Amino acid sequence: MKKTFIVANWKSNKTEYEAKNWLDGLKIKDLLLMNKEIIVCPSFTALPILKSLIISHKSNIKLGAQNISPFDEGAYTGEVNAKQVKEFADYVIIGHSERRKNFSESKEMINLKIEQAFKNGLIPILCISDLKQIHDSKFITHNSSVIVAYEPIFAIGTGTPDTPENADQMAINIKNILGQIPVLYGGSVIPANISAFSEMPNIDGVLIGGASLDAKEFYAIIQNA
Ligand code: PEP
Repeated sequence: MKKTFIVANWKSNKTEYEAKNWLDGLKIKDLLLMNKEIIVCPSFTALPILKSLIISHKSNIKLGAQNISPFDEGAYTGEVNAKQVKEFADYVIIGHSERRKNFSESKEMINLKIEQAFKNGLIPILCISDLKQIHDSKFITHNSSVIVAYEPIFAIGTGTPDTPENADQMAINIKNILGQIPVLYGGSVIPANISAFSEMPNIDGVLIGGASLDAKEFYAIIQNA
């Protein structure tokens, strides 16, 4: 039975208080995770409270950050580095299309972040919208410890997902380049369409933005996956 990754990307949403309420609302004690790996990626500011609640609930939910500094610790005002993130999280989203677009993240910058993630024991969740972005990632080699999320731009936050068949074909193409790494699909996944993606043979899970913000909706996604 394959492992299904379900990644929540909260983007720039939720205070510490709201993050705590979300976790309470998820009813984590009722969650039967079995072969599902749940990774919640909040803003940096909510990582500490979520980490301590997850520990106190003895939950298997994992944490990820949405970004890291491309540099080591040091004189980089405003940056949060991978070593700091590793105190709270096991994963980090790198190269999300919103960062490529709104913060002009170049392939060089993304490569530095991938290098930082590996160096500090974080598993990168590399977001790509086409195969060229795989070839741009010089630190990711065949069978690297990495997760790739295929996220077509037209599908992110639009309510118009790609077809499961297209997404599955992309997963095949990515695995042909990188080996048998987990490949996720992201873009307008909701409780009603999650199973169409998670049941595809080459898709190992989903990355969810909007629908992850509401605990009840996210709970339904986990159950339907
Ligand atoms: C995302 O932000 O990566 C994403 C997939 O968003 P949404 O689920 O809202 O389309």
